[in-house]
Amino acid sequence: MIKNAEIHFNNLGTPVADNFNDVYFSNDDGLSESDYVFYQQNNMPYRLQNHDQTHFVIAETGFGTGLNFLNTWQQFKNHLTNRQHPNREVHNLEQQNVKRLHFISFEKYPIKATELKKALQVWPTLAPLTDQLLKKYPINLAGCHRLEFDDGQIILDLHFGDVQESIAAMSNPAQGLIDAWYLDGFAPSKNPEMWQQSLFNAMVNLSRTSATFATFTAAGFVRRGLAEAGFTVQKVKGHGNKREMLTGYLTQANDAHSTPAYFAHQPSALSNVAVIGGGIASSAVIYSLAKRGIGAQLFCQDSQLAMGASHNVQGAVYPHLQAKNSPHSELFAHSFLYAKRLYQQLTENGFHYDHQWCGVLQHAVKQPLAERHQNIENKQLWPTELMHSVTPEQGDEIAGVCTGYSGVYFPLGGWVNPPQLVNALFQQAQALTAIQSHFNCDIEALEKTSQGWLLKSHGQLFGPFSDVIICAGEHSDRFAQTQSLPIVGVRGQVSHVQASAASRQLKTVLCHKGYFTPAYLDHHCMGATFEKNSKSRAVTEQDNQTNREQLLNFYGQTEFATSLGKVTAAKAAVRCSFIDHLPMAGEWAQQSDYIQAFANLRLGKRYQYQALQKPQQGLHLLTGFGARGLCSAPLCAEHLIAALNNEPLPLSERVSQAIHPARFIVRDLIRNKI
Ligand code: SAM
Repeated sequence: MIKNAEIHFNNLGTPVADNFNDVYFSNDDGLSESDYVFYQQNNMPYRLQNHDQTHFVIAETGFGTGLNFLNTWQQFKNHLTNRQHPNREVHNLEQQNVKRLHFISFEKYPIKATELKKALQVWPTLAPLTDQLLKKYPINLAGCHRLEFDDGQIILDLHFGDVQESIAAMSNPAQGLIDAWYLDGFAPSKNPEMWQQSLFNAMVNLSRTSATFATFTAAGFVRRGLAEAGFTVQKVKGHGNKREMLTGYLTQANDAHSTPAYFAHQPSALSNVAVIGGGIASSAVIYSLAKRGIGAQLFCQDSQLAMGASHNVQGAVYPHLQAKNSPHSELFAHSFLYAKRLYQQLTENGFHYDHQWCGVLQHAVKQPLAERHQNIENKQLWPTELMHSVTPEQGDEIAGVCTGYSGVYFPLGGWVNPPQLVNALFQQAQALTAIQSHFNCDIEALEKTSQGWLLKSHGQLFGPFSDVIICAGEHSDRFAQTQSLPIVGVRGQVSHVQASAASRQLKTVLCHKGYFTPAYLDHHCMGATFEKNSKSRAVTEQDNQTNREQLLNFYGQTEFATSLGKVTAAKAAVRCSFIDHLPMAGEWAQQSDYIQAFANLRLGKRYQYQALQKPQQGLHLLTGFGARGLCSAPLCAEHLIAALNNEPLPLSERVSQAIHPARFIVRDLIRNKI
C-alpha cells in the first residue's frame, strides 16, 4: 500500500517532509533553483532544439510537489511557442523536431492533493498548469499512472512506489529510453536508502546514448557512484550561494534490456496506418495515434461506429480486481484510472456522450463471492478510493434500494453510453489529425507486398500501408495471417427494461452475476447472457427472459426488481476474449515463424534463440477485451502505440508480457506442446 507523505510547512512557507526532515525545495526561491539545477544544467534549451527523436524523455527521482515537472512543462511550452515564431533563427531544421515531452517521475510517498495545492500556491506563474495537474493527480495506487496534458503533448508517467522497485518493474529496451535525469530525492545524508549504487547502475541501463543528469548535491559518494556506473561526472557551480552541484553524461548506451526476445516489441514505421474495426479499441488506438500527429484510415464492416460489442446503451465502467497483486489486477486497476481520466477529458473538451459517474456496487450474491470480497478487504491491496467493502446497510444506502447484500464498491466507476463514447473519442482524434473512414467496408484479406500491406474488400484494394492494426473483436481471426488466434467468442444479450417508481430510486450500477444500471431514458440495462461458441448478433426473446430470471433470482424479494415493466428492446453481440481473460496488444508474427526462432524454448529458457524473421512485419493486434473494453482498451491502445513509436511504455514489463500476442505460442513451446 502506498502511504502519503507526512509534511508540515516551515515558517517560510516551504513544505518539509517529517520522516526525512528535509525541505521539498529551497527556502530561497525554489522555482529559480529548480530551473537552474535541473532544466538548465541538463542543457534543455539546446537539447530540445537538437534532438534525434520527436519526443524527449526526462526521468526524475522524487516527484514531491511536482515543482520540477511544472517548471519543465512551462519551459517546454515556451520552447514550442518560440519555435513557431516566424522570425526565429533556423540553425538545423532537421534536428529541431521535439514535439512532445515525456516526463517520468518516481515517488514513494505522494503528497496529498490538498497539501500539494498549498505547496504550489506560492508560484502564481505556474497556476494554470498546477490546476491541470491537480485535476488529474492520481490516487494512492502503486505502479505507473500515465497522465496526459495539452492533447498528449506532455506525458507524465507518475510511478508510485520505491524508485528502485519501480525501475525494476519498467520495460527497459536495449539502448535505453531516458534522455535526461533529475536526481532530486532529498539530501543524500537524509535519504541514504535512495542514493544507492544499484540506482546509479539502473539509471545507466535505462539511459540513451548522450543522456545527461543533474543534481543539487555534490556529495562525494554520489559523484563516485555515478562515475562507477558509467557517467562522465563533473562539478559545476551550484544555485545562488551554493558552491557546487553535479552534472554528467553517458557516452554510450548499453544493451541491458528487460524483455526476452520472444516478447519484444519492435518500433514500427507508422507512416501509413490502417485500423480494422469500429469499436472502442479502434477509436482508442486512432486517438493514441492522433495525439502523436499520426493519421490513420479506419475500415469498418458496419455502416457506423460501435455496432459490435460496443453497442450497448449503457456499459458499466469499473476495474476487475483480484485478491492478489497479479498482472491482471495491475492491468485493470491502471487501465480503469487511465480510461476515466480520458473520458473526463473528452467531456471537458466539449465532446458529448451520456454517462453517470455514479459508482459501481458489486453484490456478494453468493457465499463464495462474500468470501472473495472479505479476502480482498483483508489483504488491503487496493486504495479505498478505488474499491472498498460495504456492509448490507452501507450498500443499500449507496444504491438507494433495499437488497440486503454486502459487497464491494467502486466509487469512481459508473456507466457510459458506449456508442456515443466511441464516437466522441473518434471525433476527438479527428480534431487532432486527419483520419479517413471507410464504412460498410468488409476487409476479407490482407496481403504483404514489398510496398507494404494491401487490404482487400470485395474486389477493391486499399493501401499500401506500413502498419495494420486489427481491432476487429471476434472477427480478428478471419484473415489467413491470424487464423491461429485462439479467440473465445462469447455471445451476450442485454435487455432494456422499462423502469418503475421503485427502480428509478437506484443510484448506482449493480453487479451480480450480470449487471443492472440506474434508469436512463426511463429504461434499465439488464443482462447479460453468456453463451460460448455462438457468433450470432440476433436478439432472442428467450434471452430477455433469462436476463429477467437472473435478476429475480438474486433480487426476487426486492421491489425494484419485481416492479419492472416490459422489455422494449435488446442488443446482442459477441465478446471476443482469450482463455486467460486478458486482451492482446502487440505485433502478430506467424506461429511457424515463432516456432522456428524460439524452438529452443522447449529445452528451457536459458538457451540461445535465432532471430525472429517476420515476413508479416507491421501487422498488430489490439483485441480480446471481452466485456471490459471500456475499461481496458484505452490504456492497451496507448501501450501498443508507445511501443511501436519507441517510447516509454505505460504498462509494466510483466503486464506487457501478459498481454503480448505471442503468449500462447510461447507457453506451448515451453510445455513442449508444439
Ligand atoms: N522534485 C520534487 C519537486 O519538484 O517538488 C522534490 C523532490 S523531494 C526533494 C524528494 C522526493 O523524493 C520526496 O517526495 C520523497 O518522498 C521522494 N523519495 C524519497 N525516497 C524515495 C524512494 N526511495 N523512492 C521514490 N521516491 C522517494
